[in-house]
Amino acid sequence: MGKNFKQEIEALTKIDEKIVPPQRVIEEAFIKDYDSVYAYSIRDPEGFWGQIANELVWFEPWEKVREINLPHHKWFIGGKTNITVNALDRHADSWRRNKVAIIWLSEEGEELVATYGQLRDRVNQFANALKAKGIKKGDRVVIYMPLTIEGIIAMLACARIGAIHSVVYAGMGSGALMSRILDSKAKMVICADIGYRRGKVVRLKATVDEAVKDLDFVENIIVLRRQEPKIELSEWEYDFWELLNSHSHHCPAEVMDSEDPLFILYTSGTTGKPKGVVHVHGGFMVGTYYLTKAFFDVKDKDVYWSTSDIGWIVGHSYIVYGPLCAGATILIREGAPDYPHPGVVWEMVQKYGVSVMFTAPTAIRMFMRFGEEHIKKYDRSTLRILASAGEPLNPEAWNFAQKVILENNGHCIDNFWQTEVASPILGTMPAMPNKPGRAGKPMPGVVADVVDEAGNPVPAGQGGNLVLRQPLPYMMRTIYGDPERYKEIWNVIPNCYCTGDIAVCDEEGYFSVLGRSDDVLNVAGHRIGTADIENALVSHPAVAEAAAIGIPDDIKGEVIKVFVVLRADKSPSDGLRKTIIQHVRHELGPIATPKFVEFVEKLPKTRSGKIMRRLLRAQELGLEIGDTSTLED
Ligand code: AMP
Repeated sequence: MGKNFKQEIEALTKIDEKIVPPQRVIEEAFIKDYDSVYAYSIRDPEGFWGQIANELVWFEPWEKVREINLPHHKWFIGGKTNITVNALDRHADSWRRNKVAIIWLSEEGEELVATYGQLRDRVNQFANALKAKGIKKGDRVVIYMPLTIEGIIAMLACARIGAIHSVVYAGMGSGALMSRILDSKAKMVICADIGYRRGKVVRLKATVDEAVKDLDFVENIIVLRRQEPKIELSEWEYDFWELLNSHSHHCPAEVMDSEDPLFILYTSGTTGKPKGVVHVHGGFMVGTYYLTKAFFDVKDKDVYWSTSDIGWIVGHSYIVYGPLCAGATILIREGAPDYPHPGVVWEMVQKYGVSVMFTAPTAIRMFMRFGEEHIKKYDRSTLRILASAGEPLNPEAWNFAQKVILENNGHCIDNFWQTEVASPILGTMPAMPNKPGRAGKPMPGVVADVVDEAGNPVPAGQGGNLVLRQPLPYMMRTIYGDPERYKEIWNVIPNCYCTGDIAVCDEEGYFSVLGRSDDVLNVAGHRIGTADIENALVSHPAVAEAAAIGIPDDIKGEVIKVFVVLRADKSPSDGLRKTIIQHVRHELGPIATPKFVEFVEKLPKTRSGKIMRRLLRAQELGLEIGDTSTLED
């Protein structure tokens, strides 16, 4: 086990509270009898997933539901589809044609709306524009856009023609953006000139310019120009709306094999190299469609709001593809959840009658700190489900969400997953009794276990590695350009998918996920590799060596502390500290900003020369680290 989770595990043994969800949630829940659905999904996975896939449109049916040859697995073999047919046409050609698909809000409350019919037209126009600019099936396109309808159009247009999109969160710095464009060898970048956050303008195009300056394989840049007067474009740059408007709104969907890639999403791993997680059309579509209904309980009458962003996996699965495949009305809001005032989220819930919401523990803890008065001012009686993911949901935050935000009239449900597994794998389903402090039980189809280093299951109540014993249709298929790295994930514990998280399962089968077992931090629900931060630090000319650790924080879960060894000719100063912080921010983006920088003479290392981050962390927190021989890894 990487970190020391002893105290957390001890605290968990004291949790025995089990809370029954409100009656209205149970009555409306898509799944009322978890036990029988789960049992069926395990007894007959092919029957289970085949039945769900049958609810969707395929150009050609699959011959076989799955083929497992670990670490590889294929789903809906031989099936031909295109996720946009299910996300758009299935609704635009039905009574949902004039149903609102997306409501976009700005921080100031400005509103833009697209119905399913309109969304399909715009996606088709933009898809034709991409084709006209030479983008074909299999080409990679990087999208660096704020949370806008145009960002979603760009994603869907790529999918429509079989191009592989790779969305980079429009808050990442130029170094992170450059390494992702380089790894995916994207021919095109779609961006906006600016984004808005906390009333301020974020200059995105300047970051793109810096990122692509030495990448000659990038042929075109399409820019959503929001600022007036409009920024100048060079000859290989095009205006988003001008280009879109010059094309027809008929664009047949490219016929995709079920296993053809849909997108690459980069995430942080334990090495500094970006890890391009690849998801495919068929299985991802079936999984996100199913869990939008089965877990998030989204129905036609609902207004669904996820406070995430298209730059994260939650945005791919549960802002864009899952809810669209389920025909939902989706609310998105660009900007910060506490701007222009601390109650703005609840003001929007009241204004739009939001009934299902998906947020993160960090946000819940932030609302707790602001105080009840900002929440109670607004009517939240429409809210039936408040889902939370991204980091452990501590019992205090759960209690606040359940009792203050929902006033026990809805259900706050935790769910655990990650970029590699594009949908919940553990969670408290809406009608399931809740155990605050525990994420919940395995989702239908999921065979989860807690095991020791040798792969043996540990007894209930003991900590170990969280693994999956069966693949899922909605899991990644490979790591882009690095099949060996993909294989390693299934090799840590042979024939199991290793999540990299430490978990505990109780006697009743409820899992708690405590945190990462590797050198990956979780800051405000965002995953950041210590290697990424250290690489950014040493790319500064004054820095010789660096180590990054996470230290606990009441709101963000973890914040970043870095230890820096300066080059011989440099001496510590407050000015240098600020410059170094600014440098990391510029390279990686604001989410990776170190909170504390300590200048040290040297870093503790193992005999083989590896930095002992666990020792630094233990010293920082005043913990015992036990036998240092185990620190060799
Ligand atoms: P990402 O791939 O960026 O979505 O990050 C996934 C990681 O976030 C997981 O491996 C966990 O460490 C953490 N995580 C996500 N959801 C939860 C949850 N409900 N409880 C505990 N940790 C979580």
